[in-house]
Amino acid sequence: MKRRSFLAGLAAAPLVGLGAACAQSSRSGSSASASGGEGQGAASPAPELPPVDLDDPPPVTDRLELSEAEWRALLTEEEFEVLREEGTERAFTGDLWDEHREGTYACAGCGNPLYHSRDKFDSGTGWPSFTRPIEKGRIATEVDRRYGMVRVECHCARCGGHQGHVFPDGPPPTGKRHCINSVSLDFHPA
Ligand SMILES: [Zn+2]
Repeated sequence: MKRRSFLAGLAAAPLVGLGAACAQSSRSGSSASASGGEGQGAASPAPELPPVDLDDPPPVTDRLELSEAEWRALLTEEEFEVLREEGTERAFTGDLWDEHREGTYACAGCGNPLYHSRDKFDSGTGWPSFTRPIEKGRIATEVDRRYGMVRVECHCARCGGHQGHVFPDGPPPTGKRHCINSVSLDFHPA
């Protein structure tokens, strides 16, 4: 995992408030490294990914592995930073924290269905929040010990794309709060 840019951004900011919800980068997601521009890494054409049928998705054991160059070609700069470098969008800046329609939230990297609106709740954090994944095995977790905290990182089990973190302070029925970046999700209204 490459965390250079995220760490660099964080170093410039006080750590205040990091423990409160999702860790929050001090950088504004969209303006970060905008100077990198399009000139970089034009080598690899974006791979053609077969579309995912949300009503008949690939099995939870399905895995999708792409090279870094392929991800760079496929994703926007902001998506790459969050999905592939474990960045975090600023609270209340994403387009899904205040989304209340019924529908499915799929991985912005590979299209894998990850969350459903029935499990979404208003956490007040400014990030889309869910009590559980749409189906067991769609989301995988690992311990994240960055920034002097022990947190549970969560990612798309299919492509490994970083989604956010899971906290033990959610509402019933699970008591879990999946705190997810809007950037990491594509919403498909029912
Ligand atoms: Zn994915």
